Amino acid sequence: MKNNHPLLSVEQVCKSFGNKQVARNISFSLQKGEIGCLLGPSGCGKTTLLRVIAGFESIQSGTVCIDSTIVSSSTRNEAPENRSIGMVFQDYALFPHLSVSDNVGFGINKMPRNERHKRVGELLTLVGLEEVANNYPHEISGGQQQRVALARALAPKPELLLLDEPFSNLDALLRERLTVEVRDILKKLGTTALLVTHNQHEAFSVADKIGVLFDGTMQQWDNAHSIYHKPASLEVARFVGEGTLIDGKVTSTGKIQTALGPLEGHFSIPCEPGCSVDLLIRPEDILHIEDNCLKATILKKSFRGPNIVYLLQLASGEKCQALVSSHHDHRIGERIGIQPEVDNLIVFPKSCQL
Ligand code: ADP
Ligand code: MG
Repeated sequence: MKNNHPLLSVEQVCKSFGNKQVARNISFSLQKGEIGCLLGPSGCGKTTLLRVIAGFESIQSGTVCIDSTIVSSSTRNEAPENRSIGMVFQDYALFPHLSVSDNVGFGINKMPRNERHKRVGELLTLVGLEEVANNYPHEISGGQQQRVALARALAPKPELLLLDEPFSNLDALLRERLTVEVRDILKKLGTTALLVTHNQHEAFSVADKIGVLFDGTMQQWDNAHSIYHKPASLEVARFVGEGTLIDGKVTSTGKIQTALGPLEGHFSIPCEPGCSVDLLIRPEDILHIEDNCLKATILKKSFRGPNIVYLLQLASGEKCQALVSSHHDHRIGERIGIQPEVDNLIVFPKSCQL
């Protein structure tokens, strides 16, 4: 038995198509049972990276190891069927002429009949599809098709499950429900999985570790909390969550002077007194306190049911958002009292070098 090694280890992987570099020195790893997610805008290289790990694409340099075995390097490209992976594609790629049961059993056709029947039954129960076992894909809903694809990929008990935008064809409500369901199923089985998405809500609700990818570069590999509260770069901060940037100046006492007043909190200031910084202010960082003397003017409001997100203009002309209970229903143009809540301020140096 090998212990304490990552189940999936991607090291310094570079992948180009012609002279277009699509993965630049990508490194990350997943422990057994962990769920990882590659998050990034369309075209940043997520699918390519997943296909590299699956063995559908060769790489120019670096290594991919599954369970401590090198499966990809510049000189090696183990075939997908020898990698102990399961794959769920964006369009599910179900076989239209096979029933739900037969789709699920497709990858285990070498198993003895009885065993196979039993395994298919277990999987159908796991994903809640016993009742449509004999239906064909076109006779079931999108959400059910998605679960067939998941069950089919899990049938051979892969070490690693790869999922490419598995929820993107579903409506928002169903997507949210299935995201949680899929996480529960994977956790129950202890399956290691890597999922690709451009949707941060999906990433947050499904993943133990998130990798933010831009233009073939891994900007940060971390848990959801750190990606949100301690983004490694301005780009990550802007891509993940909402917020606006305002100017700040570091004071001699280690505070930051801003249009919201001097701020201090549990954050490290990455530069010397006197230097200028960009502060990311998230909507939840600004409290609405009716009689506070710090005021801001409402430019826009976005109703979200329990909350309203107000876009506010400060005296400096800078803008920030405030997440406010929708019981406080103010008009556009109104001036309201606010108070910054600084614990999670995110600071990036502007004019000084680290
Ligand atoms: P994502 O999944 O993040 O949307 P992809 O991995 O599909 O991104 O694509 C990343 C980049 O690589 C895109 O610019 C895409 O056009 C390019 N690309 C993907 N596959 C190929 C290919 N087989 N040949 C040439 N370019 C490709
Ligand atoms: Mg893609």
